Amino acid sequence: MTSNNALNGAADSRPVFFFDIDNCLYSKACNIHDEMQKLINKFFVTHLDLNTEDAHMLHQKYYKEYGLAIEGLTRHHKIDPLAFNREVDDALPLGDILKPDPKLRKLLESLDTTKVKPWLLTNAYISHGKRVVKLLGVEDLFEGITYCDYGQLPLVCKPNQEMFAKAEQEAGAPSTESCYFVDDSHLNCKHAEARGWTVAHLVEPGTPIPRAPASKYVISSLQELPTHFPEVFKSERVPSA
Ligand SMILES: [Mg+2]
Repeated sequence: MTSNNALNGAADSRPVFFFDIDNCLYSKACNIHDEMQKLINKFFVTHLDLNTEDAHMLHQKYYKEYGLAIEGLTRHHKIDPLAFNREVDDALPLGDILKPDPKLRKLLESLDTTKVKPWLLTNAYISHGKRVVKLLGVEDLFEGITYCDYGQLPLVCKPNQEMFAKAEQEAGAPSTESCYFVDDSHLNCKHAEARGWTVAHLVEPGTPIPRAPASKYVISSLQELPTHFPEVFKSERVPSA
């Protein structure tokens, strides 16, 4: 990943394709979500002195209200987000779970990077974000990452407009209208769409389809992206007769 993309000094007017990382670049079926829930609940029990049941309830409440637990923890309790990152995200046994994903790699390689800039956009801290894309074997296919900086309070994270604005700025998006985004979070997709981004909400098979769609595009697999956005993918080679 390089953070600078000067394209021989010419102004880079490529649209940006933002990819969420967790439960988006890898399937929910990897159960990282479950592992993470366990560690988050444990964190609530340890740091807020709660029993397991109350910890679970508060965790769910923060998740629904803010889209992520850490946001509630820093707003309502004196919790250091970096301690959370250490004890939850960085403690996940990802090396046992995530493997290089050739299908994902092929899909990302089929993005036409003369037409679009692939960029990561995560609510995780940078250590976690980088660890995941490295394990999936796709680290080199993104030109940068916008992450939630757990060292800065108040936290700036999706679905806040401030986070989307930060992403546009860091990625050097030519305009708000030239941003694509895929995420598995209904809330994130809804707010990105309201901003004017072109949004695909990833709803994996087995996940309930939301009654009110978060965005114009709802996909069940990242592999559907080229169908919806052919303008940023390499055109498929016509098989020779
Ligand atoms: Mg996600």
